[in-house]
Amino acid sequence: MSGLRAYRVGVISAELPLSRTTTDRAADLRERPDLVAALLTDPTTRVLMVHDGSVVTRGDGNPELVLLPAGQAALLAPGGELPEGWIFLGVDDVDRLPGVSPTETRPAGARAYLARLVPDVDAAVLLAGDQWSSLREIGAVLSARDAGLATAAVALERWHVRHPRCPRCGAATRSEQSGWVRRCLVDGSEHYPRSDPAVIMAVVDEADRILLGHGALWPEHRYSTLAGFVEPGESVEHAIRREVREEVGVIVGAVEYRGSQPWPFPGSLMLGFRAHALSTDITVDAVEVTAARWFTHMELRAGIRSGWVGLPNNTSIAHALIEEWYGSELPDAI
Ligand SMILES: [Zn+2]
Repeated sequence: MSGLRAYRVGVISAELPLSRTTTDRAADLRERPDLVAALLTDPTTRVLMVHDGSVVTRGDGNPELVLLPAGQAALLAPGGELPEGWIFLGVDDVDRLPGVSPTETRPAGARAYLARLVPDVDAAVLLAGDQWSSLREIGAVLSARDAGLATAAVALERWHVRHPRCPRCGAATRSEQSGWVRRCLVDGSEHYPRSDPAVIMAVVDEADRILLGHGALWPEHRYSTLAGFVEPGESVEHAIRREVREEVGVIVGAVEYRGSQPWPFPGSLMLGFRAHALSTDITVDAVEVTAARWFTHMELRAGIRSGWVGLPNNTSIAHALIEEWYGSELPDAI
């Protein structure tokens, strides 16, 4: 069993780059209609700017998330009527007091965080040295606090941008509850942010080989774990077996949950599994997956080193699932 010699036990959600957080979402505060306006006048409030899945960072190599004082953020990216375009992300989890009084916006000692949705990236005047960085590229190098803030901000930004209108009547909607709800201006219906469940699985056989596939739209040599969306009316376990059978023709038996990670590009929640194959013959669907094969540990190592195999980057849960099976840090290409 590879799990017994794994250098860590399981894919721990709290260690996955975009699952980390140190922030209390303080959902009880969101309903206050003046919350965002009050926090914008609080000198301790910090704001991150988000646009199209990217956030503003500073520095090369190991960029840090830029958290601006509220006044500065409002100047750099001026917006319209509050709270449209602003999201309350939460407060530092330290010193979070039970039962914040109705007049307080944050517990003593805890800093509040807002996200500013920048509608037109060209309209935001960045400070010298700052740049837009894609969360999927930099998620693994951010601190736990910053990764948690940026992931929530990107997830909500992607949802707001894609849901300007009411799905019931087509009228315009407005942001409420500090950016966590949109309400229809005509029929008053409330619409909440959604996450789409997707399964991603390290399929292994009795010889402890792993099945990796090549997606039709991927760069040449890219191999990864199979994945797919959970369909309406379907269990997670069924989705795993259906996707693997559809994409590569392999029959899956037992499945083990390993961990989850939000993947807000635009709105997925990746549910990671180890899936045990009952058959090994591969027939790719040639639509979503154009190549697939079984790898031993030695074959994968040789493939990566020679450049014949390129794995997804270390922000992804796919990387963590493959690394857990591999049993140690994955090698680099030589
Ligand atoms: Zn409506």
